[in-house]
Amino acid sequence: MNSSLVSIVLAALFLTGCANDIGREVEQERDTARTPPRAPLVYELAPNWEELVDLRSLAVPPRIQLRYATPRNIAGRPLYPADMPPLLRRPTANKLERANRMLQSSGRCLVVWDALRPVEVQSSLWEAVPDGNYVGDPHQGTSLHASGVAVDVTLCDLNGRLLPMPSDFDEFGPRSSTTYTGSDPRAGYNLRLLREAMIGAGFGDYHKEWWHFHDEDFDNGTSRYVVTAIMLGVSLP
Ligand SMILES: [Zn+2]
Repeated sequence: MNSSLVSIVLAALFLTGCANDIGREVEQERDTARTPPRAPLVYELAPNWEELVDLRSLAVPPRIQLRYATPRNIAGRPLYPADMPPLLRRPTANKLERANRMLQSSGRCLVVWDALRPVEVQSSLWEAVPDGNYVGDPHQGTSLHASGVAVDVTLCDLNGRLLPMPSDFDEFGPRSSTTYTGSDPRAGYNLRLLREAMIGAGFGDYHKEWWHFHDEDFDNGTSRYVVTAIMLGVSLP
């Protein structure tokens, strides 16, 4: 495969400076001395990245509500353009369709809150929430979302109405745990159905985010194979 190496200098995104007008150059030199330069990140472009699938084209498509195309996420602002396509790698998309078929038999449908997340957006998320418990550090291999093999999902009924779940998207804390069911028994029941379908279809979970699942056929080493917004032709806000 003709995967080529690409250097993405994200470290600059994390550098802040506030040198004043007096002695600006001196201050900058001091800052440089105090803060060792971070090595540029080197990612490998995802092999076969062109085999991404638009989830809307699946035979049994999920509902799409990409929360990073809205301000309703942990960053509090849109990180995707309004027309961001919901994409996953082909094997992962097939698993998602299998889970959706299982859920339809119980009168439910998957809603996708996030799918492929370009690595530039992962960097923006890390800036907003530099907490490795909930956001993949782009300096340490980023997230399987950036490789197109992880997906964030919830449930709706067959009319598209969202069903009770333990928490909202990106509501980090005890309520986002896979073991939290809350006081509403419907939320606990829906969470159980969601997990049975996703795990039964071949996904692994993340115990701190009930909505997050990753394709079990890809391990964490996959996260260095990233897809960029530039590769997708997507203009970020
Ligand atoms: Zn996720």
